[in-house]
Amino acid sequence: MILIDSHTHIQFPVYDNDREAVIERARNAGVYPHTKRALALEENDARYGVGVKMICVGTQASTSESAIKLAEKYPEDVWATIGYHPNHVVPAQHAQTLRTGRRLAQTNWYHDQKEQKSANPPRFNIEELRRLAQHPKVVAIGECGLDYYRLAASDLPLATRVKEKQKEIFLQQVELAQELNKALMIHCRPSKGTNDAYEDLLKILQEIKFSQNVIIHFYVGSVEMARKFLDAGFYPHTKRALSGGVNGANARYGAGVYFTFGGVITFSRDYDEIIKYIPLDRILLETDAPYVAPEPYRGRRNEPAYIVETAKKLAEVKNVSFEKVAEITTKTAGQIFKLPL
Ligand SMILES: [Zn+2]
Repeated sequence: MILIDSHTHIQFPVYDNDREAVIERARNAGVYPHTKRALALEENDARYGVGVKMICVGTQASTSESAIKLAEKYPEDVWATIGYHPNHVVPAQHAQTLRTGRRLAQTNWYHDQKEQKSANPPRFNIEELRRLAQHPKVVAIGECGLDYYRLAASDLPLATRVKEKQKEIFLQQVELAQELNKALMIHCRPSKGTNDAYEDLLKILQEIKFSQNVIIHFYVGSVEMARKFLDAGFYPHTKRALSGGVNGANARYGAGVYFTFGGVITFSRDYDEIIKYIPLDRILLETDAPYVAPEPYRGRRNEPAYIVETAKKLAEVKNVSFEKVAEITTKTAGQIFKLPL
């Protein structure tokens, strides 16, 4: 049985000492044998081995490049995405304070310190990303998008400037994905209690008539917002698409919006409603390793093998079997990323 970790960062330095072992554990992730649930299951189920394949997600040029290197080294197990994370968008006057590290904790502009050893703000250069995207193991552009969550503490003019810059940089990556016929790996986080960044994201995609698949990584929005994404006209089979709806031109491509969920669903009930709402064939599994490990590994460094726990929880909330979750999510990821599974 294969599971796909659709969003992971095992190229980050936090794995430098044991990356090989992490990948080996992913290859042999196994299922159930150590849990009560396994013991209660048919012996048949307990025997299943699970191999986890990984989409290693870039967050700037350097981590995109290291993701590609990893994909070259493990051709059967790892694929790469290349992109520029919205939290790297720093106005020039703040770059200096970031470099000295003094305001790093308060501003938290960075994706985070696990991402790289250097504290220099990464540069954005679309030509550099375009060059990286040519590599045959690159299956999507991103993670890129909009993050308004961390702007809450900033003064309004600064927040406005950062949002504008984020949009400008995001749009260039959307256009690159469109040009190269690749999926988009989205990082989108609204300000607390709102769907503001998701509304802006949808608007941008519709305005340029984006026609590739879109993966919204770790979706935290409302059911209503998810409905808008699902109904956005990327779909060939919805009534709205058939009637030439919002974006009829896109309908013929059969692209759509997909949502990933990770470890947090194993210890928070906040996502049950949205998981029940989104069709299983629009959901992908992720770890977002090294962040947010699932139960029973909570608080530790996350890794792709732990995705088994998230898959189990998804099965429970969806009220389907583990096998069904594996079958559908792997098939979907295979199609979106065009994996030779
Ligand atoms: Zn990520």
